[in-house]
Amino acid sequence: MKLLRDFDLTATTTFHVPALTRWYGEFENIEQLCALLEDPRLQGLPRMCMGGGSNLLFVKPYEGIVIRPASRDITLLGSDNETVSVKADAGVVWDDFVKFCVDNDLFGAENLSYIPGEVGASAVQNVGAYGVEAKDIISAVHVYDTTDRRQKVLDVTDCGYGYRDSMFKKFPSRYIVLDVTYRLSCKESYNLEYGPLKELKEDADLSLRKVRERIINIRKSKLPDPEYMGSAGSFFKNPVITLKHFNALKERYADIPSYPAGQGMIKVPAGWLIERSGLKGVAVGGAQVYTRQCLVIVNTGNATADDVVALYRHVQDTVSDKFDILLSPEVNIIGL
Ligand SMILES: Cc1cc2nc3c(=O)[nH]c(=O)nc-3n(C[C@H](O)[C@H](O)[C@H](O)COP(=O)(O)OP(=O)(O)OC[C@H]3O[C@@H](n4cnc5c(N)ncnc54)[C@H](O)[C@@H]3O)c2cc1C
Repeated sequence: MKLLRDFDLTATTTFHVPALTRWYGEFENIEQLCALLEDPRLQGLPRMCMGGGSNLLFVKPYEGIVIRPASRDITLLGSDNETVSVKADAGVVWDDFVKFCVDNDLFGAENLSYIPGEVGASAVQNVGAYGVEAKDIISAVHVYDTTDRRQKVLDVTDCGYGYRDSMFKKFPSRYIVLDVTYRLSCKESYNLEYGPLKELKEDADLSLRKVRERIINIRKSKLPDPEYMGSAGSFFKNPVITLKHFNALKERYADIPSYPAGQGMIKVPAGWLIERSGLKGVAVGGAQVYTRQCLVIVNTGNATADDVVALYRHVQDTVSDKFDILLSPEVNIIGL
């Protein structure tokens, strides 16, 4: 177990903007977690969990305890004719889990290759890419409920999953994800419906490794590598609007892209809205709308959280004025 006072989180988050927490604790098992939660120095303080810090922005010093799971085991649980169950601890690097599945010929996780972060957060965020979301392969989430002070195993249907959303996000300090159980297919099946993956359908020697490799290459060409340029990935969620609103926009912008979002609702790519608002490359201090993908705000070197927030608000206002759509952040902004 680790418990540190006045901990600098700057290098622990992928935005790399200056960030501090009064306390930072790591635990490897449930006994250590309970010891942390019961530490007399931490009583009455706000509490939150973090993983790889790839979807977090701290706008002021956090006057509480940031808790991080440090257990990193992946266990094959069992199988039937068609599926295999795999349990991964919350602290497992997400892409190590995806690689484990690919290396073991397990189908279902490959489209989620190379997403930064850890397993615990992936179940909170319901991470998604290339037509697949974490909820599609999760079967159960093992949590510590800090309100009821006991461990619970939640079936995927109890987790309230939606687009980058879950029940856990509604109770941010209540549930600490300990491990996640996934159900993967051992029968060959791919999801290649997303644009750049479609051409793989023609590949006679298609394999999980090829799909993973293709996705990693696309992601490397489109998204900033946090090692060299700070970001938290997509800063904004893709907004969902009514069909009536969409049709009105379509009359003015014939090329507006869209995806059906169920029951007369339409999803519009936020990146397109931002680019068409003339915001590509626009900067406030060291924060900039990424020129290769407008959905991302990057730290060009010396951004502060205030720079990022000022730019985020400028983007929100400009897009709202032009399209009458209020973009909401995908990034978890702490302290705003
Ligand atoms: C370059 C880049 C590309 C990205 N691409 C994608 C993408 O394609 N798709 C996508 O969905 N996301 C993407 N992201 C966002 C990010 O990778 C995901 O949201 C990821 O799941 C965050 O994981 P993390 O471990 O870093 O979580 P953190 O950022 O540390 O935390 C995220 C949230 O989860 C909570 N949390 C973390 N661990 C736990 C736990 N054990 N128990 C309870 N709550 C917890 C935190 O309190 C916080 O609210 C990208 C980010 C970057 C930087």
